[in-house]
Amino acid sequence: MSLKAIYRKVLDGTQLADSDIHFIINLPQDRLEELLSCAHGIRTARFGNTLGLCAIINAKSGTCSEDCSFCAQSGHHSTQSPEYPLLPPEEIVAAGAAAQQHGVTRFGVVASGKKVGNQDLEGFTEAVRGLAAMGMAPDLSPGILDHSQLKSLKKAGLKGYHHNLETSASFFPKMCSTHSYEEDVNAVRSGLKAGLYVCSGGIFGIGESWDDRVELALTLKELGVQSVPINFLHPIPGTPLEARDVLKPEEALRIVALYRFLLPDRALRICGGRLTVFGETRKKELLKSGASGLMVGDYLTTTGGDTTSDLEEIATAGLQPENRKHEK
Ligand code: SF4
Repeated sequence: MSLKAIYRKVLDGTQLADSDIHFIINLPQDRLEELLSCAHGIRTARFGNTLGLCAIINAKSGTCSEDCSFCAQSGHHSTQSPEYPLLPPEEIVAAGAAAQQHGVTRFGVVASGKKVGNQDLEGFTEAVRGLAAMGMAPDLSPGILDHSQLKSLKKAGLKGYHHNLETSASFFPKMCSTHSYEEDVNAVRSGLKAGLYVCSGGIFGIGESWDDRVELALTLKELGVQSVPINFLHPIPGTPLEARDVLKPEEALRIVALYRFLLPDRALRICGGRLTVFGETRKKELLKSGASGLMVGDYLTTTGGDTTSDLEEIATAGLQPENRKHEK
């Protein structure tokens, strides 16, 4: 077995064997560049030289009932994360308009919490209407939405539903004790059933193994999500993971490349933790590692990079922001 043979298998649409996956995971470090080049080749075959840009707003922050070990917004941890109720819809729409000026086509409205009450549903609906009216693809990440909520939001113009599985089913109980993996999987299924573009991925560097990473990718593939956000842990003081080491850039790059091999036709978006792991100096490698999308601007509870410099780097890498016609 050679890397080239595995690469060709992916391009031919052949399912990878366990031995192929282990080959990628165990490829010596001095061949990382070769691995990234193949991952970039797979991504180019499917997405050309386009890069999907998305941005988010932290529309409701803190006091979450859940205890996800990495999260600054959990009410179970003592962090300095801000706490506020859902922002007024006009504020959310104004933030979307500012992101649109930078060529961002998907705007995610993210809110802490497990479920959505009637009052927040009204606010989300109004925000979605406003964003859709300006030609932006509105995405929501509000926790678990039921079928009727998804349907009414879709009617208002919602394009995407974002709900991360975060990690594998095997590792999940070590990361969260307040709800089950099945609830999250069912939320993803509901979004897909409602005909929405579903963005669901995970966070890496929280203590999961390579087997957990593979398990998550294969679960997402089987579920049929269209987009997979990749987040890297930024350890937040006051959370159970505050003392964890940040992933080495080489390990993070291998994760992105592995996901491209396992999910050749799905959007792979690099999101939270990018600057924590890569800083401002290693963007070029990241853009050539198999990713097909990038979150720009600030992340949920951490500051992001400078969007203008991101756009310059994207152009230098020979990539261009994706037009919405390429997305569902
Ligand atoms: S990840 Fe989501 S569900 Fe978990 S604590 Fe944070 S806001 Fe709550």
